[in-house]
Amino acid sequence: MVSRVHSYHDDDAECELRLDTECCARKHHRRLLHASVSTILLHSDHTVQYVPDMDNIQLEIARTDPSTPFRATTHHTHYTWAKTFSSRPELYIQPQTLPEIQKVVNLARKCRRRIVVVGCGHSPSILTCTSSWMVNLDGYRRLLKVDRQKKTLLVEAGIRLRQLNDEANKVGLTIPNLGSIHDQSIAGAIATATHGSSLKHGLMSESVKSLRIVLANGQAVRCSSEQNQELFRAALVSLGALGIVVEVEYEMTDACNIEWTQSLETLSHVLDTWDSTLWASKEFTRVWWMPYMKRAIIWSAEKTSLPERAAESNFYGGAIGFHTYHNLLYLSNYVLAILPWVEWFVFGMQYGFRTGITTSAVEPLRSGLLMNCLYSQFVNEWALPLSKGPEVITRLSAWINGEGDQGRVPFSNKGLYVHCPIEVRVSDTSRNEPRPYLDNTSPDEATLYLNATLYRPYLRDPPCKDRYYEAFEWLMREVGAKPHYAKNWQFTSSEYIGEAFGENLKTWTKIRNEADPEGMFLGEWHRQAFGLGLGKEAPFALEERQVQTEPFKPGSCLFWKGELSASNGPAVAADEKRPLSSPTTKHAPESPSVASSSGESFDMMHGAEAEKSAMFTPSASEFEDEDDEGDETDRDEKRYHGNPKQGWDGTKVFDKM
Ligand SMILES: Cc1cc2nc3c(=O)[nH]c(=O)nc-3n(C[C@H](O)[C@H](O)[C@H](O)COP(=O)(O)OP(=O)(O)OC[C@H]3O[C@@H](n4cnc5c(N)ncnc54)[C@H](O)[C@@H]3O)c2cc1C
Repeated sequence: MVSRVHSYHDDDAECELRLDTECCARKHHRRLLHASVSTILLHSDHTVQYVPDMDNIQLEIARTDPSTPFRATTHHTHYTWAKTFSSRPELYIQPQTLPEIQKVVNLARKCRRRIVVVGCGHSPSILTCTSSWMVNLDGYRRLLKVDRQKKTLLVEAGIRLRQLNDEANKVGLTIPNLGSIHDQSIAGAIATATHGSSLKHGLMSESVKSLRIVLANGQAVRCSSEQNQELFRAALVSLGALGIVVEVEYEMTDACNIEWTQSLETLSHVLDTWDSTLWASKEFTRVWWMPYMKRAIIWSAEKTSLPERAAESNFYGGAIGFHTYHNLLYLSNYVLAILPWVEWFVFGMQYGFRTGITTSAVEPLRSGLLMNCLYSQFVNEWALPLSKGPEVITRLSAWINGEGDQGRVPFSNKGLYVHCPIEVRVSDTSRNEPRPYLDNTSPDEATLYLNATLYRPYLRDPPCKDRYYEAFEWLMREVGAKPHYAKNWQFTSSEYIGEAFGENLKTWTKIRNEADPEGMFLGEWHRQAFGLGLGKEAPFALEERQVQTEPFKPGSCLFWKGELSASNGPAVAADEKRPLSSPTTKHAPESPSVASSSGESFDMMHGAEAEKSAMFTPSASEFEDEDDEGDETDRDEKRYHGNPKQGWDGTKVFDKM
């Protein structure tokens, strides 16, 4: 299809054009050239030459500063950790400096593309799926500054929690609280309200002292509780919808060991001690509830000066236990009724068949809080006031076990079997100021998290998922709970979310829409979660909507495909277009911005540090030519099937929950 015609009578231009075309064809044979339009060259001798596509993207890249690389590849496949979803972004971009990040944002605006930032893709939903541009900051994760007195580290936002702890440990500090793993990027963890389990701690974002974020107009803005507080509160839990978080100043605590103990108890013991000792006696406590046995493993830990001490080894705790449970779960996909027996056998083998059995160990805080999350899984976790815990657990237990009036849950549980454990954790954010607008925890009291895990043995979905989750979410809504963003909730409407977050969602939306008026950072997940709460019924110009999800491969994940709502022609006038130039070419004229300047649009930035944007500095493209088969974790199959970590006698799987 011929959609634009350019006349060039200049030999140099033709020469450059051919050069570049060859180069592009070699490096980017798949999509950039293939998917778009053609250009016609009229030579000075009046011959006509059809030139393979000079994509709008390449045109825009040619106008930017060649000294700032644009590190993009065109054939990346993105997977969530649990292999629940995958997508193929048009471009996968891994910038390494702030100007490179700003260049990406400015180019996306001009090329009319949505941007999704991805950490390590541990959120199991379509939150990080896109067919547009995916930005990953794995190459942007340096330590920038240590303040030993304030116990803070300033880091580039792509840093993973594990590496952040490495840096902190070098100066005698450590992250004060962690969830079950430390693989996440710091930006990804705070963006989704990630939490651990402790009444002495809140969300991981509570330790963020300041942030720097690149907004849709390409400007990098600092914010904190003192500076630009509204933006700070919106960015503390932003779901990737506000801009690209590029720096995080994080408060640490002194590095230390923790001594943990775990014991098998009855569910009634858990409920009886709920308001007294269960959560309050140690700094860290979490509970694994076994719904059919009506028992629970209580794991708790306290800081200690004792030297490290390993947990007692159990022949079953390594690969044997890991593979046994995996295969029994697989079998239960076909013979559902074995699940209560599987729970009894697997957890009995590891933690004992009678209550009161205790294990303990001493580990550094940085690793002691972690656990092995086993296999690919669905997770459906909700936050509710801690005081409602006993009632909710009692009702859910009655429903799962088909007792009495079945917990007053209006869904049939006939033939329904669930997996173990149901995770029971806590946090307390009630003393925190300022709070993130999208904080899903209870503002007035401590918060309980209930997580209905369903494993996907060998990536096969368990048959009862939909009915279980529909009933579970109904019960959660009945008690006014709010979902954990980075989980698989699916039966809850955006109206409920709108009501649950009320004025806070409205304020977050106002700030978001001011910072990103065209919806460059918005996608289907945000629309499904917030609906009209996004402040606009019609899609934003750059908002990405779902076209389809389809099975990728049997036993694998759903392939997600999106499209941008607006027709996404270039942001430049037709007569300004010109073919892509080689890096040596003189710079083309700048294309007009479609975003407002900071003074016009981003009121919340007044008084904030807003560096001069790198936008409109003319340049040339720098696509990388090596094949991109996905980042290191994408390629590591072990991450989907879990990882026994140690050999047959290993203890690192079930040794602690
Ligand atoms: C095995 C496992 C265990 C887990 N354990 C826990 C747990 O104990 N507690 C808990 O609360 N959660 C837990 N989670 C959830 C996990 O913490 C979140 O999904 C977290 O967001 C993952 O971080 P990530 O770097 O993979 O981010 P991604 O999943 O890649 O992204 C999450 C969100 O962050 C945004 N984002 C990422 N980087 C940036 C950036 N630089 N700027 C702006 N936005 C950005 C993305 O756009 C997206 O909206 C677990 C998940 C898994 C798979």
